[in-house]
Amino acid sequence: MSLPNHPQPQPGILDIAPYVPGKSAAPGTHAVKLSSNESPLGASPKAIEAYSGVATRLEIYPDGGSRLLREALGEVHGLDPALIVCGNGSDDLLHLLAQCYLGEGDEAVMNRYGFSVYPIVTRAAGASIVLADENDYTADVDALLAAVTPRTKIVWLANPNNPTGTYISDSEVRRLHAGLRPDILLVVDNAYAEYVTAADFSIGADLVAEANNVVMVRTFSKMGLAALRIGWLYGPDHLIDALNRIRGPFNVNLPAQLAGAAAARDVEFTVKLREHNASWRDWLVAELNSNQIRIVPSQANFVMALFADEALAAKAFSTLMDAGYIVREIGQSYSIPTGLRISIGTEADMRAVATILKSMVAG
Ligand SMILES: *Cc1c(COP(=O)(O)O)cnc(C)c1O
Repeated sequence: MSLPNHPQPQPGILDIAPYVPGKSAAPGTHAVKLSSNESPLGASPKAIEAYSGVATRLEIYPDGGSRLLREALGEVHGLDPALIVCGNGSDDLLHLLAQCYLGEGDEAVMNRYGFSVYPIVTRAAGASIVLADENDYTADVDALLAAVTPRTKIVWLANPNNPTGTYISDSEVRRLHAGLRPDILLVVDNAYAEYVTAADFSIGADLVAEANNVVMVRTFSKMGLAALRIGWLYGPDHLIDALNRIRGPFNVNLPAQLAGAAAARDVEFTVKLREHNASWRDWLVAELNSNQIRIVPSQANFVMALFADEALAAKAFSTLMDAGYIVREIGQSYSIPTGLRISIGTEADMRAVATILKSMVAG
C-alpha cells in the first residue's frame, strides 16, 4: 500500500461544502449589502465608545473567561453568568458543541431548510446530519422527533430560522424537548431573538434552567457587532464545564468583550433596532406580496421572498444587483432555488428594493 504524499484530513472533511457567506460589494462600488442580515443602523454608540477605548491596550491578553461580558449578559437577561460561555461568534460555539457531543457514527437532526452551518459542524465532528421535513418552511416538531434514532446526539433548531425567517412557539419548542431522550442535546439557536415580535415566542432560558439537555445560543452579529465576532450560550452546568475545557483559552478578544458588554447594556439601542426592523419588515411584506412573489412570514431581520419560478428569482437577483442592491441567493446553499433572502435595511433601501421588484414583476 502506498503512503499518501501529504497529510490527510479526517474522513469526511473533504466532503463538506464550505459555508457561502452573503456577497459583499465589489471594492470601489457603493452597493448596499442586504445579504448578511447586518444592522442597518450601525452599532450601539456605547459599544463603539468601549471599542475605541482599548486602542492603547492591545499588548495585554483579554480575560480568558470573558467575565465582564458574561456579567453584563447575566444582568440584562436575568441569567447566572456562571452558566454562560462566550465565543468568537456563535459559529465558534456551534463548532464546540459539535466537537463536544458528536463523533463517528453519531447523528444530528435539523430541519431541511435550517441554518447551513449545522451540517458543516456536524460533519466536521465525524457525525452525520439527518434532515427532517418542514411544514411550509417552518420547523415541524413531529418530523424532527420522527427523525430521531438511537444514534441521535444533537437536535439543531434555529429559532427564528435562517434563511426562512419562520419560528416555532414556546409550546412547540417544549413539545420538541419533551419528545427527546435525556441524552440528546437540544440546541436552540436564537440568533435573531432580539428581532422577534411574536407574543408566543420564548428565548427558552426557562427551559434551559428546567431541563438538563437544552442550550440556548445567541449572537451580537445581527445587532450591529458582526465584525467583532461575539457569540454566547446559556446552558446547564455540566455542559458549561465541558465547553470550558475545550474552548480556546482566549476565544473572545478584548475589544469584543468590552464592546459586547456595552452593547448588551444599551437596551435603548436594541429596542430602536427591533422597532425599525419590525416596521420595515411589515412594510416590505405588504409591498411585495403579490401573485408573483410570496414573502414568507418572518420574525427575523430579513425576509425570504419566493418567486413564481427560478428564472424570476434569478432575474430579481440580477435586477437588484444592477441597481446596487446585493441580496442573498439561497438556491445553492439552501436548496430553495426560487427564493431570495433580503435583509431589512434602511427606509431608503427598503423603498428602493420594493420599487425595483414591483416594476420588474409588472414589466
Ligand atoms: C448569523 C447566524 C449565526 C452566526 O452568528 P455569528 O455569531 O456571527 O457566528 C448563528 N445562527 C444563525 C441561525 C444565524 O443566522
